[in-house]
Amino acid sequence: MKSVLILVDGANGQVAKSTGELATFAKRIGEVIAVVFDPSLVAGLGAYAIDKVVVVGGFDATKFSPAPIAESLAQLITTKSASAVLITSSARGKEIAGRLAVISGSGIITDAIDVDADLITTQSVFGGSTSVHANVSHGTAIITLRSNAVEVIAASATPTQEDFTPTISDMAKLATVTSSQPAAKGGRPELTEASIVVSGGRGTNGDFKPVEAFADSLGAAVGASRAATDAGWYPHTHQVGQTGKTVSPQLYVACGISGAIQHRAGMQTSKLIVAINKDPEAPIFELADYGVVGDLFNVLPAATAAIAAKK
Ligand SMILES: Cc1cc2nc3c(=O)[nH]c(=O)nc-3n(C[C@H](O)[C@H](O)[C@H](O)COP(=O)(O)OP(=O)(O)OC[C@H]3O[C@@H](n4cnc5c(N)ncnc54)[C@H](O)[C@@H]3O)c2cc1C
Repeated sequence: MKSVLILVDGANGQVAKSTGELATFAKRIGEVIAVVFDPSLVAGLGAYAIDKVVVVGGFDATKFSPAPIAESLAQLITTKSASAVLITSSARGKEIAGRLAVISGSGIITDAIDVDADLITTQSVFGGSTSVHANVSHGTAIITLRSNAVEVIAASATPTQEDFTPTISDMAKLATVTSSQPAAKGGRPELTEASIVVSGGRGTNGDFKPVEAFADSLGAAVGASRAATDAGWYPHTHQVGQTGKTVSPQLYVACGISGAIQHRAGMQTSKLIVAINKDPEAPIFELADYGVVGDLFNVLPAATAAIAAKK
């Protein structure tokens, strides 16, 4: 049976949902070995389909750049004879994956939205118009997977646990973290991890209140088109699209967004797309599963009130 390492993500005792998604993909391939660098996350792993937990010790991973994590994973590939390593497609995840591929002499595939039992991945490219199927032909398959790409399956058994102390080179410890500050967050979920995203565009005319109120009624994250972020109406960190973030939620609601190809590039793999636009000819309707032709300043408050009434 193949063994698959998954890199556990999370902070302050909270395991990120993306870890459950990695476990779900890994379970299709073989034995799931969760690699955790923060012992406070171990308790939260019982909820997912994980067979073994390896707790890496000997250094504090939060105090270093990703280099020691990559070295640790490279050693675990050997000791566990792993066929694949699955990592979340965040900026940090991709840095770890890149370093790991170099150290272990392996091929790497980033931003996959699927991986099957034969380690064949699917990537969505050219603004979602093309699906690429690929596999790693050399070494261990190092694969980063986008969040929200799969429905998480629950735990199948209680995982066994073991400790592992890697040998970390002095070179890997050269870059240290001197301080870090969690990004200021409202009560809303992280854009790339949210299962519902409500985005506003130029049609908001700078007033995001109806978009935010609707998002809050659904427990959703708020996104924005580049027209809205360039105008300074919403922070650039919330921009969805080719030069912004890529999201793949269960539900994406585009409000006052025309559906330019560069915007589609960041949201086209959403499972269900709803568009609200007052122009019936807006290109976003070609992509939407459901469309509302109307003024967002009327539609959104009515939808928010209807959801509140159902609660
Ligand atoms: C290299 C490059 C990279 C880019 N990267 C990105 C990117 O990452 N993300 C991105 O989004 N764009 C990106 N763009 C810009 C992109 O081409 C579009 O210009 C942009 O997406 C348009 O944003 P919009 O849909 O909000 O605005 P518009 O195209 O102006 O559309 C506004 C829509 O709102 C509708 N509307 C107006 N008023 C209302 C109302 N009251 N109620 C309902 N509907 C209303 C209109 O009918 C219209 O369809 C990029 C462009 C380039 C060249």
